[in-house]
Amino acid sequence: MRLYVNDVAVRDGFQIEKAFVPTATKVELINQLSRTGLHKIEVTSFVSPKAVPALADANEVLAGIDRVPGVVYVALVPNIRGVQNAAATARKPDEVNGVVSASETHNRANINRTHEQSIAELPTMVKVAHEAGMKITMSLSTTFGCPFEGHVHEDVVLDFVGRFRELGFDAISFGDTTGMANPRQVRELTAKVLERFPPPDDRYYTLHFHNTRGMGLANVVAGIEAGVRSFDGSVSGLGGCPFAPGATGNICTEDMVNMLVDMGYDTRIDLAKLLAVARRIPAVVGHDVPGQVMKSGQTLELHEPPRHARS
Ligand code: ZN
Repeated sequence: MRLYVNDVAVRDGFQIEKAFVPTATKVELINQLSRTGLHKIEVTSFVSPKAVPALADANEVLAGIDRVPGVVYVALVPNIRGVQNAAATARKPDEVNGVVSASETHNRANINRTHEQSIAELPTMVKVAHEAGMKITMSLSTTFGCPFEGHVHEDVVLDFVGRFRELGFDAISFGDTTGMANPRQVRELTAKVLERFPPPDDRYYTLHFHNTRGMGLANVVAGIEAGVRSFDGSVSGLGGCPFAPGATGNICTEDMVNMLVDMGYDTRIDLAKLLAVARRIPAVVGHDVPGQVMKSGQTLELHEPPRHARS
């Protein structure tokens, strides 16, 4: 079964790093990621450089990277201004990704807008993106729970999906921004979404998990069982959310791929190449990272037995 794997480390991961990662390093890492077989790479964000100084070099990153055929290059856009800036840049992203939180309080915290204000902007965002020849997707963050409000009702999620589809978004992603999802909830909620709003193709719905409470990979399996075929991860497990207390990294892309390969799924990813990128990240950010397979090696990288066990 074909699964689509996307990486968001350069955006979701780097945005909260205290030390600015030089543009040339970002470009080099994206170029290396581009040759691992990933479906999409979220490379930057068109946000206020005051709010997120780590990603103030969006134009330079997009201008500097190689575009490998078959890879979709994505930029996050929190509002109309973001879409306009993406449309105006010299080398546009293939796709822009808007974001609204399922919970009203998180929406205010994250993008400083009420739901009403966010929703009012959406038709213009779609229009500006499409007129500029870019696809536009929508991420519904806090789909599985909000750190301020708690449980998010399923009907709220289903209402948003219906709205996004009516408005002509090209794909939808469900963000577990602060790692509150559990596998049963993921299976039940995504099954409902797929039943009520059948996707036009296998890449239409994406699940975006954070591993805050250690349930990230279990949630991926639950999503696959429910019928989702596209998943975000962050190489080496970098990431978090600047406005969500205690949020830790995204699920680790290469740990996820290692699991999916072991389970017999077709990800089209060259895991050795992906691990090579992951192993560069601690030096880039100056601290340890959560990735596990980068430390342990792939499942079938075998070890010399101790002397007494050799025949
Ligand atoms: Zn995230």
